[in-house]
Amino acid sequence: MEDPTDEPSPGAAPAILASHVATVGSIEVRRALPQRTRRTIGAWCFADHMGPAEVTEGRGLDVGPHPHTGLQTVTWLIEGEALHHDSLGSEQLIRPGQLNLMSAGLGVAHAEEPTGAYRGTLEGIQLWIAQPEGARQSSRVFEHHAELPRVTVGGADVTVLVGEALGASSPARHDTSLVGLDLDVHGTTTMPLDPSYEYGVVVLRGAIRIHGSTVAPGSLAYFTPGAEEWRIETLEPARVIVVGGEPFSESILMWWNFVARTREEITAAYRSWVHRDERFGSVRSALAPIDAPVPFWLRDFQP
Ligand code: MN
Repeated sequence: MEDPTDEPSPGAAPAILASHVATVGSIEVRRALPQRTRRTIGAWCFADHMGPAEVTEGRGLDVGPHPHTGLQTVTWLIEGEALHHDSLGSEQLIRPGQLNLMSAGLGVAHAEEPTGAYRGTLEGIQLWIAQPEGARQSSRVFEHHAELPRVTVGGADVTVLVGEALGASSPARHDTSLVGLDLDVHGTTTMPLDPSYEYGVVVLRGAIRIHGSTVAPGSLAYFTPGAEEWRIETLEPARVIVVGGEPFSESILMWWNFVARTREEITAAYRSWVHRDERFGSVRSALAPIDAPVPFWLRDFQP
């Protein structure tokens, strides 16, 4: 029988939303979030599957200095390496299995560059988490976590990037109730869920089935709250990113690299970046800073 309501019932098939292709630095990405019909999953508000791309002498993750406000950037590689620089003075090499987490708060600028030595494939995901009121007005922190908890459940090796799952807890700072997981899936798995969370699944490699729906690279599978668990079957061995959380209660305005609440806040951040005032500080990087586009509501005015 058909469900008479619009909401899928708990455990129902996900909505499958196609990612769109974009270029970040020199690398092609598949942007799974935000989507026109799905802006956030918990406080997660951005997901770029980066690569796979070849890092050569002349080309890598060439993302020059740029600012962020009101969000945390989460960088996770499954192959390759990259170098993080930020205006807090951090310089950090990142490799697969390690997490870079930058809490921008009122404003931090950063660059993500090649290490200079690495040649080969680069692949990973960059995620953003919207910071709630309070956290977004204060914290400017960079964290690198070289070790994260890993738990095997059925045919999956699960790394807890952020939050808690399977009795394990990530040391990464988080300000709302959420979870981020990497699943290395090689066999059938039953994955327990928090029924108060909505979830998104981004497959980086391989293909899986959840509730009868195939999920493969190039799309986002979105699940409403309510399910107690997923039965995951592998069509091919897969690397899968799961993000989830309690639906974010604050209404956010996201423009370029800023998460805010109002156009006035975005305008102030935009002007600080254009004028290179002290808000975002400076980043030691060989790459050129990235220019902000002019917000459409300012187009008839001078910055
Ligand atoms: Mn960034």
